Amino acid sequence: MSVPRAIRRSCFPAPRERVSTRVLVVGGGGREHALSWGLARSAHVDEVVCAPGNPGMATIGECVPVSAVDPAAVVDLAAKLDADLVVVGPEDPLVAGVVDALEHAGRRAFGPSAAAARLEGSKAWMKEVLVAAGVPTARYATFRAGQESSAFAFLETLPGRYVVKTDGLAAGKGVVVTESMAQARLAVRAYLSGAAFGDAGRRCVIEEGLTGPEVSLFALCDGRRAQVLATAQDHKRAFDGDAGPNTGGMGAYSPVPFVGSDIVDEMMERALLPTLAELDRRGARYRGVLYCGLMLTPDGTKVLEYNVRFGDPECQVLVPRLNSDLFVHLSESAAGELATPVELSGESCVGVVLAAAGYPPAPDRKGDLISGLDRAGALEGVVVFHSGTAFDDQGRVVTGGGRVLTVTAVGADVADARDRAYNAAAEISWPGVHYRRDIGAQALS
Ligand code: AMP
Repeated sequence: MSVPRAIRRSCFPAPRERVSTRVLVVGGGGREHALSWGLARSAHVDEVVCAPGNPGMATIGECVPVSAVDPAAVVDLAAKLDADLVVVGPEDPLVAGVVDALEHAGRRAFGPSAAAARLEGSKAWMKEVLVAAGVPTARYATFRAGQESSAFAFLETLPGRYVVKTDGLAAGKGVVVTESMAQARLAVRAYLSGAAFGDAGRRCVIEEGLTGPEVSLFALCDGRRAQVLATAQDHKRAFDGDAGPNTGGMGAYSPVPFVGSDIVDEMMERALLPTLAELDRRGARYRGVLYCGLMLTPDGTKVLEYNVRFGDPECQVLVPRLNSDLFVHLSESAAGELATPVELSGESCVGVVLAAAGYPPAPDRKGDLISGLDRAGALEGVVVFHSGTAFDDQGRVVTGGGRVLTVTAVGADVADARDRAYNAAAEISWPGVHYRRDIGAQALS
């Protein structure tokens, strides 16, 4: 596929000469590709610029090689562009205070402040907020380095299924769920000593292990109010039947047919709105998207976690379902004034992640030529979002990471969307490509 080069020298027009609307998307994964794609479809958006972007995003707008986690550099770029809205995709820049820096510089930015992003940056703090807000969640306790024996004593009080989490961000790898006390103790020791995740694990959260199907609920927030976006289900394990190691996510679908409006309404009332009120009370007013990780346990629906950004790959299956204008929703959230109702198509969307050989943890090799992207993308209802891709020296798209692409398709229902997504995935190849064949199976069973 011949696409423009991702990294080019920019010569943006001077701010005052411009009357069009320009959006800067910060990040360079599948989630940010989906956001850029949705924003480019907005009736209000003339130009999308991505930092740093990826080869897929380069087909939508200019990609500028700026680090997403460098607040000063992002502010500088937003000023050069005179960006009307900056959309921050990943959690790291949010936790690093990129939105604070942008707002301080007078820019409108979508995403929570660093104070509110602590909800994802510290699991101990998140649990404290959940409990203070009266949200149903797993029983827990927090421990610091040097408190190993109290941590072991707490493990003894749990009924046979143990969850040990790093307090800080660990690239989605800091959670151990086990029925083995020995393994739980090993994790506690490795975390608290700093051996496993450095400072991120020197404080850890131990929880009772819950059981039940897991689903995600996404809501847009403007500080005090929230609007439901959609439900989705991710597939975290590498192989079919939820076998194999944990990954960043091997596929997703939306909506989740077994999560009715009763559960969504209950979670808005019992979880999201009380959490927003509690954050406001703590001086950390929450604007942005709140990703609520839920477990449908035999004792009712409980919140496992909050994330402060769209999920990846869930975002890739939410955005294609949106009939209303993504730019309007993100701008209203950023301005603290949600008003326009979210309109979703009645269709379903399924996304299959195509991964490189050796993933997880890391791909054995990069730089393999990806074939079939154009054929797949031309199929009805199909959009292919890029995550770990790169350009080779001839400007061709090659593999560049573990999760390489998310192949999405909309269809009348999950079964139809799934058939379309898998037909499209079959068009794409490179040496060692692998993907799960059962994305969306839970929705059909
Ligand atoms: P987290 O990063 O907190 O979402 O945890 C990652 C994954 O660990 C979740 O998606 C669940 O599959 C699992 N998990 C987290 N907390 C619990 C819990 N209390 N009980 C059972 N599984 C959990």
